[in-house]
Amino acid sequence: MQTQEPVILSAELPETANFMRQVELNRTIEGVYSLAKLARLSEALVSNDGYVTTKIEFGRSVGFACVSAKVSATLLVKCQRCLKPLETEVAGNFKFALVHSEDEFELLPEEFEPFLLEGEQQSIIDLIEDELILCLPMVMTHENDCSDYMAKQNKKVKAAIEAEKESSHPFAALKSLKNDLSN
Ligand SMILES: [Zn+2]
Repeated sequence: MQTQEPVILSAELPETANFMRQVELNRTIEGVYSLAKLARLSEALVSNDGYVTTKIEFGRSVGFACVSAKVSATLLVKCQRCLKPLETEVAGNFKFALVHSEDEFELLPEEFEPFLLEGEQQSIIDLIEDELILCLPMVMTHENDCSDYMAKQNKKVKAAIEAEKESSHPFAALKSLKNDLSN
């Protein structure tokens, strides 16, 4: 009878590794990190519940030691229009050539981004977090769910335009709308 390997879904990956050793082993690491461990990313989130899923590959590419990875996560951010929570899917990937010194930078073909190796162990989780931060959309708004909010704003704009027509102070109404919108 075949024994099946246990699947542990909540198992988190190591935060650091000796990258050059992983390259020698040609290692692929697949798994998750808890979002709660990503402090810099968490600042942009409404909640840091959940996980980032990642696959990290160490190996050689045209002779150069490399680390590459795919990352994806479902993040809860604040809608910039209605300020309510908004779920957004992000995904990205990166590839770095591992170098020991700045002199080695010069030897790299242009398409390689260098990663400077320092110390015994390097941080995997920092690379993953950097990538997720780069993946955050510039504008984060609901596609449809803001409609109530937007309808109210449109009404205010219309009312302000009407008021302006009748006003002897042409800019007073717009000014009050501006104050209103910035509240
Ligand atoms: Zn919204």
